[in-house]
Amino acid sequence: MPGEDFLVRFWGVRGSIAAPGPATARYGGNTSSLEVRCGARLILLDAGTGIRLLGNRLLAEAPLEADLYFTHTHFDHVCGLPFFKPFFQPQNSFRLWAGHLGERMTLHRLLREFMVAPLFPVPPEAFRARMEYRDFKGGETLLPAPGITVHTGVLNHPDGATGYRIEYGGRSLCYITDTEHVPGAPDRNVLALISGADLVIYDSMYTDEEYEKSFVGWGHSTWQEGVRLCRTAGVKRLVVFHHDPDHDDEMLDAIAREAEAALPGTVLAREGLELAV
Ligand SMILES: [Zn+2]
Ligand SMILES: [Zn+2]
Repeated sequence: MPGEDFLVRFWGVRGSIAAPGPATARYGGNTSSLEVRCGARLILLDAGTGIRLLGNRLLAEAPLEADLYFTHTHFDHVCGLPFFKPFFQPQNSFRLWAGHLGERMTLHRLLREFMVAPLFPVPPEAFRARMEYRDFKGGETLLPAPGITVHTGVLNHPDGATGYRIEYGGRSLCYITDTEHVPGAPDRNVLALISGADLVIYDSMYTDEEYEKSFVGWGHSTWQEGVRLCRTAGVKRLVVFHHDPDHDDEMLDAIAREAEAALPGTVLAREGLELAV
């Protein structure tokens, strides 16, 4: 079956800050972390609090060789990093990638400045795995392993962010978060990245109503904009992602019903969800 060995699993689906508790138990409270499997190859997307649980699951798979792509380095996308136990297994090797930092900063320096006392007691030098830190420019195409192509694009977010399109076995998975749209003018960078894609995971922090009332300029988008973009670009399936920490399970159920009615097949990301691309 096509897509059988091209999978994505969701370990954290929440935006901004972890939101654990009974009101968010079904969709989950962890921040952005995705596991992608392209055949035997492992790709990680972002390192929010969800990556801790993924790491615990991966311990038994050592030795691991994997690439970790950051959309950007706002706290909710990096704060799980020091708690990813496979970084402390010497038999593993990882490449970490960021494309939003420009000339003024490198990913390695940024992580050293984030994992530093008295903010945090352990520096990245404590990692025992073989670690490589790679910077690129949004828009470049990356080739992590034979048969896998990763296209990138610049997103509209404070301090920058990178969107990804991973192609494997003739299929395509897009990861588009965090990004703000301009109402009435579809984002050309996003349209180019998601054109004809099989699966698009999209920053759906707000509803259109919330966005227009309170959140213009905050750097995030809406599930309705995701629907419009996916319709225009001929996308096969939309995944609503990066849920607002104040959206409880009931509200997300209501969004799920509306989104399914607007664009059949649309699903809401929740922890533990696994989709074939
Ligand atoms: Zn975020
Ligand atoms: Zn952000």
